[in-house]
Amino acid sequence: MTDLLDHIKAQISANGPMRIDEYMATCLLHPTLGYYTTRDPLGAQGDFVTAPEISQMFGELIGLCLAQTWLSQGSPARFTLAELGPGRGTLMADILRATRNVPGFVAAAEIALVEASPKLRDVQAAALAGHKVTWFDTADTLPDQPLYLVANEFFDALPIRQFIRTGDGWRERQIGLADDTNDTNDTNGALCFGLGPVSPQPALAHRLEDTSEGDLIEDCAQIAPTLQAVSTPIATHGGAALIIDYGDWRTLGDTFQALRAHEKTDPLTAPGACDLTAHVDFEQLAIAAAPAQYTRITPQGVFLERLGITQRAQVLAKTLTGPALETHIAAHRRLTHPSDMGNLFKVMGLYPPMQPPPPGLEP
Ligand code: SAH
Repeated sequence: MTDLLDHIKAQISANGPMRIDEYMATCLLHPTLGYYTTRDPLGAQGDFVTAPEISQMFGELIGLCLAQTWLSQGSPARFTLAELGPGRGTLMADILRATRNVPGFVAAAEIALVEASPKLRDVQAAALAGHKVTWFDTADTLPDQPLYLVANEFFDALPIRQFIRTGDGWRERQIGLADDTNDTNDTNGALCFGLGPVSPQPALAHRLEDTSEGDLIEDCAQIAPTLQAVSTPIATHGGAALIIDYGDWRTLGDTFQALRAHEKTDPLTAPGACDLTAHVDFEQLAIAAAPAQYTRITPQGVFLERLGITQRAQVLAKTLTGPALETHIAAHRRLTHPSDMGNLFKVMGLYPPMQPPPPGLEP
């Protein structure tokens, strides 16, 4: 077997239409043919660029935010410094560099990376050479101790399902094989979207109030167990989580998308060769946040300004000239400007009961 498209078509032929979450999981994490398992997709040569790859300032400010929270909570002597989906390891490397001068912080940190891709684990190991790092397959095996965690563009990669509200109830959007015998071109047998039968969805009861017939909503089943795994140590032992992603409070409509070489593309044409994501529904994160508290969702640009990105940008600018200075100014704008990543990306913090939220965020 060499082609993921053939593999998926064979599965559909044998078992019937495939749910979108199964399709996403197969495309992204198939052990030998998956998108993340076979490549490093980040950066200008890849398919997409993330905030830590745009500027070191992002990771520096995240690091100082976590370190300040650690100080405010009495500097626990041992803690987990974790990242979900660390990509190239750039964010964690910037966190560790920026917090070097916070006395005791790096020495007390046990670095934990939750990463599914063996290929990216290798890239992370190289980026973090000189540090002791432990990898985990899932968040629920992180050590039972204070936890300071960041997840940037992790939750958007978790598989979603889509449901359309009809007069008779919810129908799930699925992927099948086109069956048009009159078709004169070659779309016959291609992957296509369709709708499953009406089925009861008790977990979607809260979406009856804000939807009407014809509306499409998305649901991500992995959010709840992942948040539980993070919230429990934070509430029990102390810590904080910063979750950064594109999305909003209660998303509505189809946000399932594919990116290849920085361009949007059809999610069904090249399975395994493009990044598949969906917007994150921050309300789902909030619903699953207990026993930790969650902050208000804050636009990334506002969060970074509150943490002092402009002052940091000015300090760095003094060391730069020419094209490097122009790139630096553009990066600052890209991370913070409302028409760029500043508003599309949101930040939600998790923190222990009876404690203040991490710097830059509000209860
Ligand atoms: N946080 C990084 C990379 C984001 S890309 C950055 O900001 O640059 C998404 C990352 O999540 C990749 O490292 C990918 O391999 C990882 N990933 C995706 N799905 C995962 C899953 N189910 N479990 C663990 N890691 C996953």
